[in-house]
Amino acid sequence: MAKSSVLGYPRIGVDREWKKALEAFWAGKIEETEFQNKLQEIRLTHLRKQQEKGIDFIPVNDFSYYDHILDTAAMFGIIPKRFSYEGGPVPLSVYYGVARGTKGAAASEMTKWFNTNYHYIVPELADASPVLTENKPLTAYREAKEKLGIEGKPVIVGPLTFLKLSKGYSASETDAWLERLVPLYVQVLQELAEEGVQWVQIDEPILVTKLSQEDLQRLSSIYETIAAAVPSLNIMLQTYFESVENYNDIVKLPVKGIGLDFVHGYTGNLIAIKALGFPADKVLGAGVIDGRGIWRASLREKMELLNELTEFVSADRLIVQSSCSLLHVPVTTERETKLTTELRNALAFADEKLGELVLLTKALASDAEEIIDELIKSDAAIQALQQSEERNRVNIQQAVAALSNQQPERSHPFAERHQAQQAKWQLPIFPTTTIGSFPQSAEVRKARQSWRKGEWNNEQYAQYIRDQIDTWIDLQEEIGLDVLVHGEFERTDMVEFFGEKLAGFAFTQNGWVQSYGSRCVKPPVIFGDVAFKGEMTVEETKYAQSKTSRPVKGMLTGPITIMNWSFVRDDIPREQIAYQLAYALRQEVEALEQAGIGMIQVDEPAVREGLPLKEEEQAGYLAWAVKAFRITTCTVHETTQIHTHMCYCEFHDMIDSIEAMDADVISIETSRSHGELIHSFELNTYKLGIGLGVYDIHSPRVPSVEEMTGMIDRALRVLDARLFWINPDCGLKTRGLEETVASLRNMVEATKIARENH
Ligand code: GLN
Ligand code: ZN
Repeated sequence: MAKSSVLGYPRIGVDREWKKALEAFWAGKIEETEFQNKLQEIRLTHLRKQQEKGIDFIPVNDFSYYDHILDTAAMFGIIPKRFSYEGGPVPLSVYYGVARGTKGAAASEMTKWFNTNYHYIVPELADASPVLTENKPLTAYREAKEKLGIEGKPVIVGPLTFLKLSKGYSASETDAWLERLVPLYVQVLQELAEEGVQWVQIDEPILVTKLSQEDLQRLSSIYETIAAAVPSLNIMLQTYFESVENYNDIVKLPVKGIGLDFVHGYTGNLIAIKALGFPADKVLGAGVIDGRGIWRASLREKMELLNELTEFVSADRLIVQSSCSLLHVPVTTERETKLTTELRNALAFADEKLGELVLLTKALASDAEEIIDELIKSDAAIQALQQSEERNRVNIQQAVAALSNQQPERSHPFAERHQAQQAKWQLPIFPTTTIGSFPQSAEVRKARQSWRKGEWNNEQYAQYIRDQIDTWIDLQEEIGLDVLVHGEFERTDMVEFFGEKLAGFAFTQNGWVQSYGSRCVKPPVIFGDVAFKGEMTVEETKYAQSKTSRPVKGMLTGPITIMNWSFVRDDIPREQIAYQLAYALRQEVEALEQAGIGMIQVDEPAVREGLPLKEEEQAGYLAWAVKAFRITTCTVHETTQIHTHMCYCEFHDMIDSIEAMDADVISIETSRSHGELIHSFELNTYKLGIGLGVYDIHSPRVPSVEEMTGMIDRALRVLDARLFWINPDCGLKTRGLEETVASLRNMVEATKIARENH
């Protein structure tokens, strides 16, 4: 009989009680014992839920006090020296120190977990001497067994993935590091085996990326060592987020089960199984329920897939599971009382996915009528949404189809636009500007609250926003900036703001997912064809422009960023969603131009986030991402200056695409990686307008004039002075008023010096 399994369950809780507990503890509002009790209660609730739903393999040790990579590092005592950790189980103060920084020591770096929006803490191996500080998976296993009688399945990040995601060692030290780490894994696993644990899930998502021959060698030697040391333990070697790169090598590893993603790696993994079969001595973890998407599965289609798999793996060796941990989806749709029934019925968050897994598992064994009924029901729910008006905006579909077949192009090449724009604006050399937002003080947020609650009427709120704009237009003029912005005071969030004004979007009440640490995000849901309903930013921008003779930049969020920071429908390709967004945003660009706004910035900080894991798919993605940006911006006159902005990311392999966006000016976050970025530009000649951020906006520190002069000088060594702009790294929304004004004054001062020296 097939069994059901979950790879990991969300930590945050239905009411984000996990987040609240963490923050209360950090703020000193609750003591450690109370905190520990609270977290245990949350953990047990999650286990109980999976137990009640009837999941066969319930994960333990997937729960975390912050992040599972940090947990693994802490388990092995890998704590940077600056936190003066003295051995033994890592105290919470040290654990949170590494995650969040302390007075004396900077936090460890945080980075994206593969191609998700979850961020993990990067382990620092330099000068670490790993030891086993505590067997966390064992503790978690015992707890589930003692408290709930659950025979849990401990989850551990595998040695190869852990090492590959760590930093602070050179390639030549890889084997030395494995020699230190693998024995610790063996120790953990031996203790689990002695305790009577049946199955352990070892996560090796790194196997969906390209590995060298040496790494494949290492992989087999790791698992041979483990198999030799703990032959009795059943290991499920788990991969996810894509199809595996080296199927043939992986299925030969001496483990009991192989877990594959049949949602995001559907094609690749299926082709591999069909071509090469599946070993008769192994169990297949079939990840058929999407652990990252929020949509209800067509259970009938999933049954077809499972039946197809049974041609290669007998049903008793099949485990029906989620494609990855459910960490990436919200907890339950039960609280979503404000969505239309059509939409709500077509959604499945973590808890609903548990139900799907159990049902599919049952369906594999029986074709009882009530099971068949459920399969049909899931199809009907999907069909209903499919037939809704929102998914059938024929005019949008036609317009976008027409756009897809064209190459969007500005009317003039950059060189000519540059001249025309110079003639029109007469900007000085090294024009100064900012990225868009100004400090959103508590007062601004309170005003918005009052308006949302209905205590303020629309006019009162609009007046308040206008007052903010007045203040900041005056300030910007007085500071001496050349290109002004209105300040984005009316926006809470750069995606939500546009989503609320476009058709095709829905907003959940409780659709939170963990982004990093206690920080959760509630992405909008793009469920229908996206359509422009009316002007979104014109009023405020026009108002700001009426208050000054200097140019005010209009400010929009780009199509790719809106898409990558939302949950999107899965019935049409992402490329099409991007074009629909682009088509809608283009109408806003045109409306701004019509209203007399001559510079328009379309922010695309999230382009990199959508980059596919598979190298061979990256160029295709970048091509349509660039095209979407061009669709958004290509219809304006040559004198209208298009700006874009990107936050820090590794640009070296993306410069060509950034250039292909053909924005007249780009501003890029630079200060956190100055050397690297400048180096990228040394290797590539960037031919359009560019502003490399001259100060880091993530800190309240006011940068000195000299520091910024230094940054400018270095940038000018590689960039064309005639195309160079001076701006901060990113928006100033999170900063205070005084530090912002002081920093911008210094920036303008540094610009004056640069102009004199030029
Ligand atoms: N215009 C936005 C702002 O200034 C850009 C934010 C971002 O890059 N994430 O806040
Ligand atoms: Zn930014």
